[in-house]
Amino acid sequence: MVRRAFPIVVTLLAVAAVAAAVWWSRRDHADEPASRPRTVVLITIDTLRADALPIYGNPRLELPAIASLVPGATVFEEAISPSPWTRPAVMSLMTGLVPSAHGNTHGEIEKQAPLPRGMKTLAQSMTDAGYRTAAFGYNPFLSLTPDFRAGFRDYVFKPGKVGDEGHVPADKVTGWVTDETLEWLDGVGDEPIFVWVHYYDPHLPYHPARASLHDADFNYRWTVPRDDEEFVSFTAQFNNSLANFMNATRGSWLAEGRGETVDPVLVEFREKGRETLRGLSPLIRSFYEAEVREVDAGLARVFDRLREMGRLDDALIALTSDHGEELFDHGDFEHGHSLHREVVRVPLLLRGPGVSARRVRERVVTTSLFPTLLDLCGIDVAAPQRMAPALLGPRAGERWPEAPPHVFCESMLYGPPRIACYLDGTDFKYERRLDDGTETLYRVTGGAAEIDSVADAHPDVCAKGRKAIEEYERWGAALRARFGTDGAQIITRDDAARKLLRAHGYIK
Ligand SMILES: [Zn+2]
Repeated sequence: MVRRAFPIVVTLLAVAAVAAAVWWSRRDHADEPASRPRTVVLITIDTLRADALPIYGNPRLELPAIASLVPGATVFEEAISPSPWTRPAVMSLMTGLVPSAHGNTHGEIEKQAPLPRGMKTLAQSMTDAGYRTAAFGYNPFLSLTPDFRAGFRDYVFKPGKVGDEGHVPADKVTGWVTDETLEWLDGVGDEPIFVWVHYYDPHLPYHPARASLHDADFNYRWTVPRDDEEFVSFTAQFNNSLANFMNATRGSWLAEGRGETVDPVLVEFREKGRETLRGLSPLIRSFYEAEVREVDAGLARVFDRLREMGRLDDALIALTSDHGEELFDHGDFEHGHSLHREVVRVPLLLRGPGVSARRVRERVVTTSLFPTLLDLCGIDVAAPQRMAPALLGPRAGERWPEAPPHVFCESMLYGPPRIACYLDGTDFKYERRLDDGTETLYRVTGGAAEIDSVADAHPDVCAKGRKAIEEYERWGAALRARFGTDGAQIITRDDAARKLLRAHGYIK
């Protein structure tokens, strides 16, 4: 592998590299692929917070398909997404670059930094290595611009535009993604394949089938109707209420992000709605979890088909999410507005050739999937793109990648710009609002809920956090200059793009 000179970063991170070397030495390096896997499947489940899954301690759900991956899998207990919303998080998965480097940064709903020049995506690397590549999914941010499809031979993300022929209704999305994946698998021969499946559920709106709710879900204060027709109209009303609340909330977040005074009427509507919905949060959780069950049922069909094809047993499978979801843990709802644990901690498991059964407690960032999947497929990663450490440790003779040892989250969708930093070697997560410098510091030992800031009691740790973020920002700027990624471009000039984002409530 040719490594290019990168003096600024190397100087900046010399200390970090030493710390990282110590960290690596604690790991075993036995995870070598015996041969290149013939079947590689990347599953991303939008908006899935880690603690919704039984493997992370949720006793309310049984998810047989995801559970079937666990024997033999490496399960990462503290996997963090680099951003709390889809576009930057998925761009990081596909490029191996943190958001500060690929340039999809704060609050730019209507803008996107195009794929960096000279960038080889995960899909392109797999295609070049002889894999037949395809992606199936649903999410307006992943179908608006050509950047996410780069390198895929087939890229099927619907709906094109809401209202168009072929648009998939919200209650059919999970089934549609599964059907498309199965149809593609039917046309595959013996060639090696790489398929990315992105489920939109359990993202809002909630449209689970009545049968996906459990008995207990029908008995919360308001009786959820058991009659099919009534259930559908109940769901429609429920979604309307949630959408009205979120429109007001998003409006106030966006105004805050622009530094504007929020309309008092909006503030009052939001406050009242928040109180009501907080009281309904068990019901929201029931609908959210019902959609997770439906995604698991979709995955069961995909795994069954892979088994019939004789591909399941030796498939390399990675499962993760682009971000989690706040379900009033910190008094709010949804994602993109905060960097709290429930929003940035995501499930991450890997299973297949070269992967051993274990649980990894060290905190990792999902950006690391990029070098890890390529490593497991025996594909060299271009040096400048190996910015994230591989999850399973370096291969023989490899050097530590030129990245800071801390785990950072950034690139908000709403509200003021913020960066959070899980400080390596400490029990703290430091967060800074970039507009006014407000600092919070959470003790994160044992998965603490990140509720009470201890910033005042630990000025020394805050100073460390400030320094880490300054270094990270310099590092990001150097990377942007290196890749030519400065300058996000407006992507909503055409009516179709505006219509799509408006239909999903992201713009007016
Ligand atoms: Zn998302």
